[in-house]
Amino acid sequence: MSDIEIARKANKKPIQEVGAKLGIPSEHLLPYGHDKAKVSAEFIKSVADRPDGNLILVTAINPTPAGEGKTTTTVGLGDGLNAIGKKAAICIREASLGPNFGMKGGAAGGGYAQVVPMEDMNLHFTGDFHAITSAHNLLAAMIDNHIYWGNTLDIDVRRVAWRRVMDMNDRALRQITCSLGGVANGFPREAGFDITVASEVMAILCLAADLDDLKKRLGDMIVAYRRDRSPVYCRDIKADGAMTVLLKDAMQPNLVQTLENNPAFVHGGPFANIAHGCNSVVATKTALKLADYVVTEAGFGADLGAEKFFDIKCRKAGLSPKAVVIVATVRAMKMNGGVKKDALGTENVKAVTEGCANLGRHIENVKKFGVPLVVGINHFVTDTDAEVQAIKDYCAERGVEAILNTHWANGGEGIKETAKKVVELCEGGKAAFKPLYEDGLGLFEKIETIAKSIYRADSVTADKKIKDQLKQWEEAGYGNLPVCMAKTQYSFTTDPNWRGAPTGFDLPIREVRLSAGAGFVVAICGEIMTMPGLPKVPSAEVIGLNANGDIEGLF
Ligand code: ADP
Ligand code: MG
Repeated sequence: MSDIEIARKANKKPIQEVGAKLGIPSEHLLPYGHDKAKVSAEFIKSVADRPDGNLILVTAINPTPAGEGKTTTTVGLGDGLNAIGKKAAICIREASLGPNFGMKGGAAGGGYAQVVPMEDMNLHFTGDFHAITSAHNLLAAMIDNHIYWGNTLDIDVRRVAWRRVMDMNDRALRQITCSLGGVANGFPREAGFDITVASEVMAILCLAADLDDLKKRLGDMIVAYRRDRSPVYCRDIKADGAMTVLLKDAMQPNLVQTLENNPAFVHGGPFANIAHGCNSVVATKTALKLADYVVTEAGFGADLGAEKFFDIKCRKAGLSPKAVVIVATVRAMKMNGGVKKDALGTENVKAVTEGCANLGRHIENVKKFGVPLVVGINHFVTDTDAEVQAIKDYCAERGVEAILNTHWANGGEGIKETAKKVVELCEGGKAAFKPLYEDGLGLFEKIETIAKSIYRADSVTADKKIKDQLKQWEEAGYGNLPVCMAKTQYSFTTDPNWRGAPTGFDLPIREVRLSAGAGFVVAICGEIMTMPGLPKVPSAEVIGLNANGDIEGLF
């Protein structure tokens, strides 16, 4: 059965019953239909002084193009913890609508470990991304309007940094010329569109503590430069107030349920390359106040996702994770061991063992953050016993337990052993989370620290222009910010085809960007696409409604 067919058969409970499991009174659930609700800001404020539950991160090895099942494992583990009698909730990101019409592959998990309603979650959901799109584009309109009416801020029209966004894969809009058509339409200039999840507004919504913090961060965003290169802020354009109004509802986290009726917060969805790739701080913190165990996911492999989760989200939000699950799959181990994508279905124990070098490095890396871990093998039907055993043996030699999970096929029942192990790690008192580097370290040194100790690069190279830029930001007071690395998710290096555990390479920094409102410096290594395109045969061609009015073709 396809994911959507399983999801359609779900025995959903009214959202009030799901909220009641966490003690959320129904008057504080703002319903969007019967199966989705926002949790009121008022209620969130009222639980702020409660103690926190245990935070568990699900991350992964360097993946195959299909993904390794982090979301599926996050959902499954939440159900597994509930199945062993724990009060657990999950926190994941919302889906970007655009990519759903390109390639198949949803964001709600898979098989019998999914959140529902998955169709809504993968489409308009509760409108958060539309609100973010509107807030972002309001600022864009106000910038051009400011220039049109005399430009008293002295913005250099060649240096407008604020682009426009939409939640659609549309390569035709990547680079455009705007304000054409004569005097009444402003001053022609080059501009462009990014996809909504790449917006700094998205990253801010996901890192802001509350509406006041949101407004302050929006105001801090740099939108353009003057001829003397001094920055113009969103606050100068006076857009921060109205943007906050547009985002007021979107700031409240969304509550839905898993197939097993357990609570799931689905909120925010920043890119995992030019942003930090985790669900919102508000959702995570709220979940920690309401549940004893909170399982969350970070995008991409652990070199990017877990590092940013720890060094950006946890550092800035004061979170202290208690355990990590590293998701590994036999097929990804094979790919890291040199097997081509079309040969993944054939047993190859030798390649699995060789590919385990990749897992081994992620294990060492996660340990550097002081959080205890377990490896969760996400079982695929094509895996053979010998291949699974090869991963277990490899981990056992390194003193780490690797547990086979079948949540994709069996739901929470299939991941109880890992759930018990996670509880043991949380209760064990071994966690002593610390970020990889201190706030006070120089910006380039932060990049070097990540490159050398996480990726194991020998060196980092950057033009003088880039180094000067970093120095300039340090002088302007941004030196304390963490660094957000934008790199391929397929390799520790910048070459997506160089899998396994490479050594002896250089990490070239191509460009650096300042996200002054979100509060990080982005270091771009390699090509980073901020507006995706559609493939030759987009999945939109087969998406439609059937005679019952059900959606077909969406996963
Ligand atoms: P990630 O979060 O790592 O990107 P997902 O959990 O979204 O990965 O899973 C990616 C895709 O793989 C989904 O379509 C999901 O249904 C599928 N998938 C995950 N685990 C399994 C499994 N054990 N067997 C078959 N398909 C799976
Ligand atoms: Mg995922």
